[in-house]
Amino acid sequence: MRRLDHFMAAANARYYAERDPFADFITAPELTQVFGELLGLWAAETWRLLGRPDPVLLVEAGPGRATLMADALRAVRAVAGDFAGALRLHLIETSPRLRALQAEKLPGVTWHETLAALPPGPLILLANEFLDALPIRQFVRRGGAWSERYVAGEAFVEVACPDPPALLAETAPPDMPEGGVMEVAEAARDWVAALAARIVVHGGAALLIDYGPAQAAPGESLQALRDRRPAPPLADPGGADLTAHVAFAPLAACARARGAAVFGPLAQGVFLARLGLFQRSGQLARGLPPKPAAALIAAAQRLAEPDRMGLLFKGLAIVHPGASPPPGFEM
Ligand code: SAH
Repeated sequence: MRRLDHFMAAANARYYAERDPFADFITAPELTQVFGELLGLWAAETWRLLGRPDPVLLVEAGPGRATLMADALRAVRAVAGDFAGALRLHLIETSPRLRALQAEKLPGVTWHETLAALPPGPLILLANEFLDALPIRQFVRRGGAWSERYVAGEAFVEVACPDPPALLAETAPPDMPEGGVMEVAEAARDWVAALAARIVVHGGAALLIDYGPAQAAPGESLQALRDRRPAPPLADPGGADLTAHVAFAPLAACARARGAAVFGPLAQGVFLARLGLFQRSGQLARGLPPKPAAALIAAAQRLAEPDRMGLLFKGLAIVHPGASPPPGFEM
């Protein structure tokens, strides 16, 4: 019997080490080159707002196939040579299999297992669909107290939890219904807290894009995807991607508590439109034959439309205190 977060951490470590995640799900950078390009230009502009630290670490957490970073660097080299010259590329990636893929696209990169292993100094960090892969805990309201879910075989077992984590008390509503489930993303919270603390000390900024609600609320979002279809989350540990929705408000609050400036969460559709998603997609489409041109416009719409990826996906910026709002987050 394992606590759900321990089960999820072990399952995802195996999953990312052994399977091709992109057979099971598709992410924004895999839909259109424009996503990575816009984030590259966001990084360059944010670097200017921070006073052009040189050198600066350009870091991506959970870079997958490295598509985002390859697109970002191409855009940066084309229009922001000063930033291109100052940046040192670092990736946070635990999967050896994905590191090998990343090495093909990004020569000269340095890898780290964890955020804490990065060298000191100011950084610009990008992460897309990274936090949703971090392990969560689930608590169930039973008789006015809390039980915690453990995994035994393919089923949940509830174990009384007399001493639940503080984050649960901070996020659960007072009128939590009997049998209601609260998810607690302790790992994501600790990761964001460490990131914010580092930004306060060393300078820099981070852009975290993920999917989930602005506020934490009762309900379960743990899901497994296999071959682009939902699968039972406990059935085949390591055989499917396990994710949970990211509730942004608790992450923003802990980053603020560490002294960082926080902007957002902002709906992805609004954010990307402000960065020029449709202008850039249209510009690229004009140089293409009809079919790929239509695909490029369709991908932009998929990222931005509220009933598709535009609203559920959100961006959160964590910035050195005193810096101006980064691009897209201006009031
Ligand atoms: N950002 C990419 C990939 C998202 S998939 C995209 O948008 O396409 C999640 C990525 O996070 C994978 O690269 C996976 O190997 C990595 N990852 C998952 N858990 C991790 C952890 N605990 N530490 C570091 N990397 C992790």
